[in-house]
Amino acid sequence: MNCFDQVEFADRSEIERIQAIRLKNTVYQATASRFYRGSLAMAGVKLSDLAGHEDIKKLPFTTKEDLRNNYPYGFLTMPVEEMVRLHASSGTTGSATVVFHTQNDLNSWADLVARSMHMAGVRQGDVFQNMSGYGLFTGGLGIHYGAERLGCLTIPAGAGNSKRQIKMLKDFKVTVAHIIPSYALHLSSVFKNIGVDPKSLYLRVMLIGAEPHSSEIRQRIEDIYGVKAFNSYGLSEMNGPGVAFECREQSGMHLWEDAYLAEIVHPETLEPVPDGEVGELILTTLCREGMPVIRYRTRDLTRFIPGVCPCGRNHRRIDRITGRTDDMIVLKGVNIYPMQVEKILMSIPEVGQNYLIELEREGFLDQMRVKVEIRDEYFVEDMRTLQALQKKITTLLREEILITAKVDLVEHDSLPKNDGKALRVVDKRSQ
Ligand code: ADP
Ligand code: ZN
Repeated sequence: MNCFDQVEFADRSEIERIQAIRLKNTVYQATASRFYRGSLAMAGVKLSDLAGHEDIKKLPFTTKEDLRNNYPYGFLTMPVEEMVRLHASSGTTGSATVVFHTQNDLNSWADLVARSMHMAGVRQGDVFQNMSGYGLFTGGLGIHYGAERLGCLTIPAGAGNSKRQIKMLKDFKVTVAHIIPSYALHLSSVFKNIGVDPKSLYLRVMLIGAEPHSSEIRQRIEDIYGVKAFNSYGLSEMNGPGVAFECREQSGMHLWEDAYLAEIVHPETLEPVPDGEVGELILTTLCREGMPVIRYRTRDLTRFIPGVCPCGRNHRRIDRITGRTDDMIVLKGVNIYPMQVEKILMSIPEVGQNYLIELEREGFLDQMRVKVEIRDEYFVEDMRTLQALQKKITTLLREEILITAKVDLVEHDSLPKNDGKALRVVDKRSQ
């Protein structure tokens, strides 16, 4: 299968024609796996029932549980000897799931990442530093091979070791970096400590993704580094990065519909939501031979952005991920997403680069505590000023989440940090 010719600017009818063909191929291929042989037979769907892309609705969903229950080889369509790589999810929400790739799968993936980076303005001749963790995490090798395919000088820096990161950024005149947003903010304080202005480097583009982040965080990253920062979405079950990516317009991520068939459904009824409304993203691989996955419930919440992008690409755009269905905090009967808290915090100039939400139980009462790092220049202020700030944050949060949180102002750089995805919520209620 060679999936990636000339389709970046294809019109809708062409994209849908490709989807129809690839959906049928994918389902045919999938029936070679133990899992889909069973689940497709049970659903009673025949290949002849699949005429167009909308016939995807006839097929059953696949869940993370299905992947776990059929660990390790139950989704493979070929002998394991045909596989050349495996990756695993980071295990943010439980035990990891493993995905296998053939060489063709890896080639298609690298093409998709190269296409995504090119869309964001990265070119041959750029020097590219990948500051995401390598190993099983797909943000390492996944982005790496795409960058090489594009022709960038690619530095596999990996995560952490901030001083060395900064040295490489300087010494090799790095122009493009891939970085997890929370780490980008943390790195900025290392720059500050060693007295280097991030804007004095050569960086012009940052690719940020792998974790939910608000537009306020993106804005901060752009201001600190003097770059354009492009949102990158992917998940290991769908290869990893290269599923959806922002173009230069920065108004939503084009989801590569020649490679993935996307639906957005109500997370409980699993019925499609009206166009433009938020729901759970469902994805089907259209170009994977070793381990196709059909109607995968990503648990990520987003919406299709209506209308056509001025860049001329017709692959539909998804909005930034507002959270995962299983991220939702239920407190005193109110549903809250961490992203709502982040949006408020990051819009307050005194607030620094990190925060942590803790859920506690006092007697029979649930309580939210929000620990907020305050910028150095404000932390030295007198008590009264700090109290006023605390009150301001409490009020703004209450207006957004309808709950009075306890707000602790803490010193810059004092909350725990991760080299990988940030931990934003600690639930102490059942401890
Ligand atoms: P895990 O599910 O264990 O975190 P992955 O490493 O495969 O494993 O991560 C994929 C998940 O990361 C996505 O399902 C999504 O929740 C999150 N994610 C990835 N990219 C983004 C992004 N740009 N914005 C928000 N969330 C993202
Ligand atoms: Zn666009």
